[in-house]
Amino acid sequence: MFPLSDQPTWHIRDSSKLETFLRCPRRYFYEYILGWRTDIPMQDAHFGEAFHKAREHQLTHGYDDIEGAFNAFMVKYREQFDPQTDEFYRPKDPTAALLAIQKFAEERRQDLWENEVVELDGVKMLEISGTVPVDERRVLHYRMDSIMRRKEDGKIFSWDHKTTKRLSRQWRERFHLSIQNGTYTHCLYCMFPIDQVLGLEFCGTCFEFLTRNSKSRSAGYHVSFERVPAYKTPDQMNTWMFTVIDALDNLDREMDRLFDCKEDDEVLMAFPMNPNSCTDFFGCPYHDFCLAWQNPIQHCYEPPLGYHEEHWDPSKMDTTVKKDLEWRE
Ligand code: SF4
Repeated sequence: MFPLSDQPTWHIRDSSKLETFLRCPRRYFYEYILGWRTDIPMQDAHFGEAFHKAREHQLTHGYDDIEGAFNAFMVKYREQFDPQTDEFYRPKDPTAALLAIQKFAEERRQDLWENEVVELDGVKMLEISGTVPVDERRVLHYRMDSIMRRKEDGKIFSWDHKTTKRLSRQWRERFHLSIQNGTYTHCLYCMFPIDQVLGLEFCGTCFEFLTRNSKSRSAGYHVSFERVPAYKTPDQMNTWMFTVIDALDNLDREMDRLFDCKEDDEVLMAFPMNPNSCTDFFGCPYHDFCLAWQNPIQHCYEPPLGYHEEHWDPSKMDTTVKKDLEWRE
């Protein structure tokens, strides 16, 4: 008998879920079907979320309101991390966030002279989430940081805020073909005429801390910015659409195969492994399970020590504007 009970979140899809599925279907099974997450605090992600609040404040109130932007950061950041943890998480800590906010005011003040936040029905398009259709029956959930208009020619684009500890070639190149980039460009296509849309610009803020002086830099905090315009042409968007539809079809097929699996099967014949992804980023948190278990549904009744169950629901994202999109006529 198939031992898992249906979770509503299994049927809610977004770019990050699809990217995980494309990276390794078995990882998708652990992360989104079982919902197993490590107990290690997700400080990177939470710091990024808090920094998004600061950026939203800056785009709403202007870059000179440093105190307001920093307060917006702190209210969110302190929900999960108290002052005793700051040193441990350096350089992604409140001191560095304040430096970045100040540096925006000093170096990027032309941002809001040259561009403006788009308003639709009197609402500023910042921190927007909802659904966007990808075919006749399926939608993706999305969350966009901003929709901006270039004053010079009226072109529409989105700044997507990213925080990192290193600006590498790999960091720069990951955006162009990402599912996320295509999804958000597709959202812009659903809201505006295609010829008005530029696409996505990924705005990196890099946080570093040097313990001693180097040849070119002094010891201490360093914050730097880099923007990666990752605009896609309509032809490239057709390829994105094919990739998404194909991934969703494959995901639906794996779900069907999963429902046919049983606890006493020797091997789980659904959500196959992709062993080429095991060492991506900091290494896969499910590696030990893949080594030890041929059929993980024999072990799925409760998360192992060091893990807990948490089902990511993209429809419950904490955003300011909710907007379900439709195909543009
Ligand atoms: S350890 Fe490797 S095969 Fe297993 S879930 Fe992770 S990426 Fe996939």
